[in-house]
Amino acid sequence: MIKLLILDQDGTLYKNKRLLNKIRENTHEFFCKKLSIDKENYSRWYSKNKKDFPNIFEALKKFNISIEEYHSQVFDIVKPESYLKKDRPLFKVLKMLGLPIYVVTSSSKNYSKKVLKSLGIYGLIKDSISLSKERNDKIKIYNEIIKSERVNPEEACVIGDNWETDLKEAKKQRFRTILIGRKNQKPFFIKSMKGLLAVIECFNKSSVKF
Ligand SMILES: [Mg+2]
Repeated sequence: MIKLLILDQDGTLYKNKRLLNKIRENTHEFFCKKLSIDKENYSRWYSKNKKDFPNIFEALKKFNISIEEYHSQVFDIVKPESYLKKDRPLFKVLKMLGLPIYVVTSSSKNYSKKVLKSLGIYGLIKDSISLSKERNDKIKIYNEIIKSERVNPEEACVIGDNWETDLKEAKKQRFRTILIGRKNQKPFFIKSMKGLLAVIECFNKSSVKF
């Protein structure tokens, strides 16, 4: 039985391309500034160094850049309320499930609050946890959450749009995982959060391990 949801935020709770692009742009600019790379050369630099940085936090660690600085210069300068509007169907799905819901995000605390408010789901989220210096690993945060809620990994469902950073390790540790994506690349995927109810029902009914 699923007793708890853990959600990624960007790309999972919303897919607004303009907003996601804005964050991507800010991230590029931020790294260019910090590492003195020409903007035109960023893509080349990134593809050359990609394998050393499985995710943004490894990159920050490697270059000794604080997460707080990244948050303030990439996320806190964006106004998600200018891009997002209330998502009634999303609200309905989450409300109907009636489970404790946590958001675990690589964005900043401020930005996350604004996103959840803009989508109209702020009141349904028990807590939104941002990666930070002390908590710089998603799987560690997932484990803290299930400990505080006293549930097993099998009873917690993690939903994200990035297999590597959101779900891979969780799957290894027996959490239930759902990938939000376009292609059926992984055991369980849905196109958007609207498909969540059916999958949770499936998890609850079946003994099959996804
Ligand atoms: Mg995401």
